[in-house]
Amino acid sequence: MTKILKEEPLWKRTTFRIGGPAQRLALPESMEELCALMRSGDVRFVLGGGANLLVSDAGVQGTTLALGQRFGGVEISDTREGTARVKVGAAMGLTTLAGMMMKRSLSGLEFGFGIPGLLGGALRMNAGARGAEIKDITESIDIVTANGMQETIMASQAGFGYRSSEFPAGCVITGATLLLRQGNMELIHAAMRGGYMERKASQPLESPSAGSVYKNPPGDYAGRLIESCGLKGERVGEAMVSPKHANFIVNLGGAKARDVYQLMLRIEKRVYERFGARLEREIRLVGVFDEK
Ligand SMILES: Cc1cc2nc3c(=O)[nH]c(=O)nc-3n(C[C@H](O)[C@H](O)[C@H](O)COP(=O)(O)OP(=O)(O)OC[C@H]3O[C@@H](n4cnc5c(N)ncnc54)[C@H](O)[C@@H]3O)c2cc1C
Repeated sequence: MTKILKEEPLWKRTTFRIGGPAQRLALPESMEELCALMRSGDVRFVLGGGANLLVSDAGVQGTTLALGQRFGGVEISDTREGTARVKVGAAMGLTTLAGMMMKRSLSGLEFGFGIPGLLGGALRMNAGARGAEIKDITESIDIVTANGMQETIMASQAGFGYRSSEFPAGCVITGATLLLRQGNMELIHAAMRGGYMERKASQPLESPSAGSVYKNPPGDYAGRLIESCGLKGERVGEAMVSPKHANFIVNLGGAKARDVYQLMLRIEKRVYERFGARLEREIRLVGVFDEK
């Protein structure tokens, strides 16, 4: 029987440290449990590491699904001609995985070191940094469809775009096969360290956030547009546009989802008035938000 937590606070499971309860949080630990759960038709939302989410203060109705730890395995095979096939469960942390690959001298996932969240969320969002994206090293993805069927799809069928993908509606990603190259451990380590130092210097890692709030418009930076509107340090309640990086909203301690949302509406309005540009949201809003 799948473990179900009732009225589970989701703020604890998001990097923003914001959000009301999941009416039911299901934590399947086996493929059988997961497929049965999907067949029940009750699943409303799939939660990964909660690193790209703004969950509403009222929380999420119905069943939220989070893969149990048993979906976090790693299997390295086929180390031939300088490449390795790595089969990874969707509940594996991306940064942990990048560290493991470094220790095996496998190159390709250096960019993922420091990106919070799990492999499933990284695939759904096509997470990336420093000019690389998870799609670049993905051969195929294992999913369970909304009606409980296990399928494997090739990366070319996943509709990957800039921080987006087009997986079958309502599916859950259970794992992927990644293709990495044999490399030099010291160089891999240096690249990871370089990326992390850049993050530390430019991002407000000391405060809870959900990373970049907006996607960069073609040829520009969302942070530049927001900063040009004089919005660094702008606040609604305990939500603030980071003075360090204008595309981050930070939770100063007791921010509510509605504070963040109101701040987002203000940012979007000001950027539109000044530049005529409509910012596209990167973070995902989960639950109900009041437009007023
Ligand atoms: C400090 C900070 C820095 C960040 N830097 C970066 C960066 O450099 N690059 C970048 O791309 N992102 C960055 N992010 C955003 C975030 O880390 C990524 O989007 C990450 O890939 C989200 O993964 P997650 O597991 O937390 O997904 P979640 O936030 O839990 O979910 C994101 C979306 O994926 C879906 N999802 C999650 N798991 C599954 C699954 N198993 N099956 C189906 N759907 C699923 C969810 O339903 C939701 O729609 C940053 C965030 C923070 C807080």
